[in-house]
Amino acid sequence: MFTFDNSYARLPDRFYTAMAPTPVSDPQLVILNDALAAEMGVDAALLRDGADVFAGNRIPDGAAPLAQLYAGHQFGGWSPQLGDGRAILLGEHVVAGQRWDVQLKGSGPTPYSRMGDGRAALGPVLREYILSEAMHALGVPTTRALAVTLTGDTVLRQEGPRPGAVLTRVAASHIRVGTFQVFAAREDEDALRQLLDHAIARHAPDAEGPMGLLRHVMAAQARLVARWMGLGFIHGVMNTDNMTISGETIDYGPCAFQEGYHPARVFSSIDTQGRYAWQNQPDIALWNLAQLATALLPLMGPREAAVEEATEVLDGFRDLYAAEWADVISAKIGVGDVRLGMELLDIMSEVEADFTNTFRALTTAPDTIPAGLADNPRMKDWHARWLAAAPDAGVMQTANPAIIPRNHRVEEAIQAGYAGDFAPFRKLTEVLQDPWHETTDNAAYRAPATPEQAVTRTFCGT
Ligand code: AMP
Ligand code: MG
Repeated sequence: MFTFDNSYARLPDRFYTAMAPTPVSDPQLVILNDALAAEMGVDAALLRDGADVFAGNRIPDGAAPLAQLYAGHQFGGWSPQLGDGRAILLGEHVVAGQRWDVQLKGSGPTPYSRMGDGRAALGPVLREYILSEAMHALGVPTTRALAVTLTGDTVLRQEGPRPGAVLTRVAASHIRVGTFQVFAAREDEDALRQLLDHAIARHAPDAEGPMGLLRHVMAAQARLVARWMGLGFIHGVMNTDNMTISGETIDYGPCAFQEGYHPARVFSSIDTQGRYAWQNQPDIALWNLAQLATALLPLMGPREAAVEEATEVLDGFRDLYAAEWADVISAKIGVGDVRLGMELLDIMSEVEADFTNTFRALTTAPDTIPAGLADNPRMKDWHARWLAAAPDAGVMQTANPAIIPRNHRVEEAIQAGYAGDFAPFRKLTEVLQDPWHETTDNAAYRAPATPEQAVTRTFCGT
């Protein structure tokens, strides 16, 4: 089924708990991602018969199942032990030199479950499938979704009993900032060094030592966060355990793509302080990277000099990010002028203009002021100056999608799924595979939510 080579399992025992997923009552495959299966060079026909594997009832050949240990700062507060509380890494599938973690999420309790049941409800699993695959189609590094499988068991959530499901998640790795943090906090220098070597081999073969890895992760995260920002995406839980070393987006909990744009927008019901608001994301990325640097300090030689150098390296993040953001916003307006782009965002925020549709309207009908902004005097002035700068429509086409996963559409797919109808979920995932063109098929998915449809809060769904 897979060609596993399990390098993480070869790390010392204290990096994880070797264990199998907990079997479920009645595995039923809801969806298999054929395109991803093809990319991974695995036989989709074989996988289609693999509900028992995806539900955790059968361990495929070559797997070395385990739950990973990590820690993290959650909303700024330190949690000394987190870990895979509801996930099992089956193994690392290797083809043509590429290595993918294959992980089951919602696969039962582990020693890291704390108060949780180790399970996932169908809704959040569908949500992660939709959003992570949309993110990939939008060209942003992300963990992928290979399959959704119903377990036949019920999970209890605040909203009531829900059907349980397992997401088969595929990632470059599941190494997080929090993976380094847990060993730093335990003053386990030997483990830190082995994790460093492992992470460098996997993600940054050219990086030299801890400072090299730090620089590499900084660049990857600057690039990632700038791309989120350019899509109006709000991650929602940028805790250090939800920031990867690979630079892939991970953890589609309370995330959302903004519709009506406001820089201080927050969706997550638990983010009461707005810590992870859209506009704060670059600063939070830096904060998290500072935690990574702190964790790596013991490997950086004499402490005083190491602190000085790490601080200097971290200081470089603002420029790294500014360069990435300049690329993103310049492409979005088709003009290499960051200030002009920022001015547009400011005007948009006055009326909370639809983020996606405003940029798309400028792309497809540059001579016309986008709907919702026509009455804005600043917009008229901006528009004239922008046209005078001769925007490059071809560049804009590659930066401004026609569709994003709108929250009410995601919600609609989830609710239908709960009622046993997966057609809206399938349709939504299908149209989101080509976000760059207006088609008759995706017309209905381009419309912003009406006030009645609008989703203003999202939940972690744990
Ligand atoms: P998250 O909010 O998904 O980033 O998860 C934070 C921590 O809580 C991780 O250690 C998860 O494994 C754990 N967790 C989340 N949901 C559950 C659950 N239903 N059962 C056990 N652990 C969970
Ligand atoms: Mg997480």
